Amino acid sequence: MSTPAHQTSSPTAAPADEGATRARIDVDVTALRDSFDAGATRPVTARLAQLEALRRGLRHEEPMLARALAEDLGKSRTESALTEIGVVTQEITHTLKHLRSWLRPERLSLGPLLAPASGQLRRQPLGTTLIIAPWNYPVNLTLAPLVAAIAGGNTALVKPSEVAPATSAALTHLLRTHLDPSWVRVVEGAVEETTILLEQRFDLIFYTGNGAVGRIVARAAAEHLTPTVLELGGKSPVFVDEGADLAVAARRIVWGKFTNAGQTCIAPDYLMATPRTLERLRPHLRRAVRAMYSGRPERSLDLGRMVSDKHFERVLALIDDEKTILGGAAEADARTRYLPPTIMTGVDWDDAVMGEEIFGPVLPLLAVSGPDEAIARIRAGEKPLTAYVFSPRQEVEERFVEETSSGSLALGLTLAHVGSTGMPFGGVGESGMGAYHGRAGLEVFTHAKPVVKKALTPDTLKLVYPPYTGIKRRVLRRLFR
Ligand code: NAD
Repeated sequence: MSTPAHQTSSPTAAPADEGATRARIDVDVTALRDSFDAGATRPVTARLAQLEALRRGLRHEEPMLARALAEDLGKSRTESALTEIGVVTQEITHTLKHLRSWLRPERLSLGPLLAPASGQLRRQPLGTTLIIAPWNYPVNLTLAPLVAAIAGGNTALVKPSEVAPATSAALTHLLRTHLDPSWVRVVEGAVEETTILLEQRFDLIFYTGNGAVGRIVARAAAEHLTPTVLELGGKSPVFVDEGADLAVAARRIVWGKFTNAGQTCIAPDYLMATPRTLERLRPHLRRAVRAMYSGRPERSLDLGRMVSDKHFERVLALIDDEKTILGGAAEADARTRYLPPTIMTGVDWDDAVMGEEIFGPVLPLLAVSGPDEAIARIRAGEKPLTAYVFSPRQEVEERFVEETSSGSLALGLTLAHVGSTGMPFGGVGESGMGAYHGRAGLEVFTHAKPVVKKALTPDTLKLVYPPYTGIKRRVLRRLFR
């Protein structure tokens, strides 16, 4: 799979004074490091208070954030409430409820050699963390990692995406107004600012975006041996099996594909089914699009727009109007960055639309001979962020579970699993490393430190001190047999 052409942002503004930017970033990182070192972020009560402040701030600034999301991405207020602000509020509420129990020390069993002794696992903050966010769910993907960073007792420097500039400004206002600057600071900007940020030493870098920049982040992190979480993308496949309820499957696929105009990391990228199933599925897909976005989707308030001219042009170029059975390039409007919900049929594996993550409202349909070929096709590509299967047969579902590798797998649904606080979310291989949400978020933003304790008397460790003679040798050999 080739690297998506949209994958590297270029600076949006004329380069600011580099020295001044570097000096500002130095001040921010030093302040965050100092307050971490002073222990300000360690008490659980302080973490809960920051999380509550963030939740209050979100509620207070919701109209401003929703306006910004509408400006950047044409998101409707309801979609913003559902997929952006609501997801973060839910994440905070869940964390507030469970944080104390997640932080409870876990008892460890130490085995006979150390006995008598006790062991436990203590979750400790990592330090000063960096969160680099993308533009497609700019509120959700900036703040959900921040919730985990705060819960873990870390300080955080947040870099929203410059590609969604109104939301970047709104997030900056939210965080500067409602959170304590000794915990959380924001640096706005593009490549230049991020490059300077990456020169700094952090204790964790949490990056969400494309794999090309993911590699830049990982390389910079290696310089300081900083651990990274990389939340990347990829082509998430859908397989629709014979005998599946096609009306419901079509609705779920259409919703998953066209939400946020397809600019979703876990959007169904392409759909595979046998020719017979594809033929039956097509009218259901068309009907589902019409039911959700009307026969004039350009007028629907619920269909988003492409984030920028560059992204509009990139996705437009992937559409082959000769293969389009719904929507198509002819209906696009560059002025408003509108791309219609587009379905393409008769697509070949080497067509342009299959060469990169689509990240737009285009759904290619590909014929396969059955589950065997669908599994083989998935295995032949990079490991996707998620995969979707609609099948009435449990043995087919189980084959996808066992025989394919992806960040997650959803059977009978699309998208909604990402909103669950009870499940880790992250990629594998080319789709990323590390996971978060709920408890997984706390785990990734902390170090699980094993702590052992052994009384000085009796000194049972005498057994392991040399010289290893006679009975000692026999006992040790027996213990390690
Ligand atoms: P983007 O262009 O906003 O880039 C992400 C971040 O990287 C931004 O903050 C940007 O400033 C920074 N950046 C860009 N170029 C850089 C460079 N040269 N050096 C340093 N930093 C740089 O967003 P994007 O990458 O276009 O986002 C879309 C991609 O992200 C898709 O591939 C999508 O699948 C993936 N994604 C993954 C997830 C997930 O949770 N796994 C979520 C959303 C998006």
